[in-house]
Parts: sequence; C-alpha cells; structure tokens
Amino acid sequence: MLHPDTEVRFINPVIGYGVVATKLIPKGAITWALDELDQIIDPARVPSFSPMAQAMVHKYAYIDGRGRHILCWDHARFVNHSCEATCLSTGYEFEMAIRDIQPGEQLTDDYGGLNIEESFECACGSPKCRQTVRPDDILKLSATWDVSLADTFGRFNSVPQPLWPVLRCQEQVRDVLEGRSRLPSSITHYHAPESPIT
Ligand SMILES: [Zn+2]
Repeated sequence: MLHPDTEVRFINPVIGYGVVATKLIPKGAITWALDELDQIIDPARVPSFSPMAQAMVHKYAYIDGRGRHILCWDHARFVNHSCEATCLSTGYEFEMAIRDIQPGEQLTDDYGGLNIEESFECACGSPKCRQTVRPDDILKLSATWDVSLADTFGRFNSVPQPLWPVLRCQEQVRDVLEGRSRLPSSITHYHAPESPIT
C-alpha cells in the first residue's frame, strides 16, 4: 500500500503516468509497504495466464528476493524509476522516503533493486543517471543504499507513519529501533535469475 498523501498524475508523453506527493512526505516516512491485498504470483503460473495478463505482470510487477512476482494492487505500480530515487527499499518489505518529497514531486524507486528481467536505457534526467539500468545493479549499489537507509531509519520515530498499521514486520522494526538488531541490507532483495524460487 502506498502512502496516502500520493496520487497518480500524467507526467509527460515520454514517461507517461507517475505517482506524486500531494503533501510533503518527510524523510523517514514509510512510503510503501507490502500488504494483504498485493498479489504474490509464483512465476510458474505466469505462462498459463492470457498474453494480456502476462504483459501486465511483466510491465507492472517486480520480483522479490525469493523470485516471486509482486503485483501491487494500488497505484504503487505506477511509481517510476530514477537513478536518484526518492524512495528506497529497506531489507524488509517496505520502502522509505530517503529525503523530503515535496508536494507535486514524484515518488521514485531505483529499479536496479527490483530484479528487472532486462536492462533498459534510462532517461531519468538525474545528473547521477547511470544511462543503463541493469538487473544486477543492486550488487554494486546496495552498500550505498544501506548507508542512506540507516541514516533515514534514524528519523523513523520523528515523523508521522500512516502506513505503520499495515506493516507486517512491526516486531522486527521495533527490534531495530530499540537497538536489539540491525536493519537488514537492501541486498536481501536480490534474486539471481538462475536461483530457485523459494
Ligand atoms: Zn537514470
């Protein structure tokens, strides 16, 4: 489920639709959390889908660290890629704003962390654009993301968290907040293409 202070807007003819903040979303806020309504699809099922349904899975679902297709039921599936994303995935099944997201600004993810099936040429416009986004970018970038996420996590209790009630890993998050464990690395989400589905 995506943060409530968001909506889908038409960005431009090249990018198409995207998700923008309708109010300030502060650094440290949970921007998305896997919830009970999101579809978790075993990849073995996909070939039996109609071609149109298969195309939707390939366009809108991401692949989690266990190799499953996750199809978000809400407008989370319209979140675009940026090489300088506003949101990053913690080692758990939720994402956080790694900096303040202003009203009207897009929420973006780094698709290099979502196990994309093929590389794509990027035109995100960021000065830090990698030009080509690859399925295994996470292997190079997770250490940098983890530093950013650790800093972001420090804000967890200082900002409103409207998605807290849908978080499935509340206990684990409390353990991190209270110093009993460490935030898992974002590399947890990597799924090598040849790995078995778990
Ligand atoms: Zn880019």
